[in-house]
Amino acid sequence: MSELQQEVARRRTFAIISHPDAGKTTVTEKLLLFGGAIQLAGTVKGRKSARHATSDWMELEKQRGISVTSSVMQFPFQDRIVNLLDTPGHEDFSEDTYRTLTAVDSALMVIDAAKGVEERTIKLMDVCRMRATPIMTFMNKLDREGRDPMELMDEVESVLRIRCAPVTWPIGMGKRFRGVFHLLDDRVHLYSAQHSGRAQSGEIVEGLDNPRLDELLGDQARELRQEVELIREAGNEFDEAAYLRGELTPVFFGSAINNFGLRELLERFVRHAPPPQPREAEPRPVAPEEPEFSGFVFKIQANMDPNHRDRIAFLRVCSGAYRKGMRIRQVRTGKDMKIANAITFLASDRDQVETAYPGDIIGLHNHGTIQIGDTFSEGEALKFTGVPNFAPELFRRAVLRDPMRMKALQKGITELCEEGASQLFRPLQGNDLIVGAVGALQFDVVAFRLKNEYGVDCAFEPVNVATARWVRCEDPRRLEQFRERNAQSLATDVAGELAYIAPSRVNLQLTEERWPEVEFRATREH
Ligand code: GDP
Repeated sequence: MSELQQEVARRRTFAIISHPDAGKTTVTEKLLLFGGAIQLAGTVKGRKSARHATSDWMELEKQRGISVTSSVMQFPFQDRIVNLLDTPGHEDFSEDTYRTLTAVDSALMVIDAAKGVEERTIKLMDVCRMRATPIMTFMNKLDREGRDPMELMDEVESVLRIRCAPVTWPIGMGKRFRGVFHLLDDRVHLYSAQHSGRAQSGEIVEGLDNPRLDELLGDQARELRQEVELIREAGNEFDEAAYLRGELTPVFFGSAINNFGLRELLERFVRHAPPPQPREAEPRPVAPEEPEFSGFVFKIQANMDPNHRDRIAFLRVCSGAYRKGMRIRQVRTGKDMKIANAITFLASDRDQVETAYPGDIIGLHNHGTIQIGDTFSEGEALKFTGVPNFAPELFRRAVLRDPMRMKALQKGITELCEEGASQLFRPLQGNDLIVGAVGALQFDVVAFRLKNEYGVDCAFEPVNVATARWVRCEDPRRLEQFRERNAQSLATDVAGELAYIAPSRVNLQLTEERWPEVEFRATREH
């Protein structure tokens, strides 16, 4: 095997999908702990607040108690390199989450055992299903009274339409929680509550029939044996191929806050989860083992370092290797750039990266020239497909309090919208700047950042736009006619693409009927 093949084979790139409060942050912390990336749990949140202290626009996050940013953490585990892509928890930033899910090879679903399948999880699961993303499941908070484990799995199967195969099985829950039985290893891992950050190693009992279990668990040992017999007869067995096809999810039980049950998950994760996969692109799919570098941008984010007010474009490496100082081509513009100072995301700190392989994420400094969805290569005209841009559902007009700051406002809004959380539409007629967003909170974030980063005091007012559609037409003459007749409802977005901004849904429908040759798209694929 070549060095590149080896590096591809050892990489695992994934994201966590969950409903807010299910325990995503806690799970992240503990996983990093196993990777030796941080010494003490609590550091993820601690690190966030340290950043808050130095970055004033994130003050808003702190005030709201939500995370509007997401980041990438890389850590080694056994002989593997794990990349964990964090996603914002707040639903107003769900577009960001969807795009992040296009950059992973698998996902971990975290479910609160007391609450079962919740609404956000259902939505995220739909996104995973579109790409048949393999999913492992962690049932969290077993230290609390929760729902019956059998019932939880039934719910996942019926609501999320994926078969469940328990890999570990809980012994009691709440006050009676004693640990988990590992069905594949035939081992019992005993639970001891441990809130401290240390990676936990409770007692392990080999074999379900071991008399030591009766000594330790009394009646619960018998209950466990009965339950295991039942699930072995009636439940699904773990089947790696079905997992990789996205049809079956291996299920683990535990308590993230007590750092219990996650090691078993991580061990299976690095073993079974898929390494970087070939990716769809035009004009041909790209395999990770190809020697030439390629990748795409799935996210743009303000630099967390206030001394560097540029933005970072997050690029997923899809093939070949990135080496410090190499020249890569931005396919959309045909421009070559020398990338000397890309950043990587080792969980301890962001470091200058020397080399990055498929599955890894690198951060490129972006001065407004890189857009979400951009493909980079060593020269080949490739275009990765499938990174969606969703039509916003809320629209406001940006109104400047100080008319002299118009230039700064335009610059600020354009740059912030390039990050992808909100979208800028400039009507073909007039000088309005219309911002569209999927969630209302995004307007607050844009206003806040305009003030802090661009010194622009701006308000957002209602505007008569109900929905937007990106417009395409094969016939250039017909498109020209469409433009002339509908100029008052047409705008260009940040990328210069034409969009129809409809004053109402009815208007949109009528226009669609009137112009059958014109395509109205709800997503613009980058
Ligand atoms: P997120 O919103 O999904 O990132 O969830 P967090 O990790 O912030 O957790 C939400 C809440 O659940 C916090 O108060 C955690 O302390 C708590 N929590 C997380 N894991 C567990 C667990 O295993 N047991 C219990 N009892 N609480 C937990």
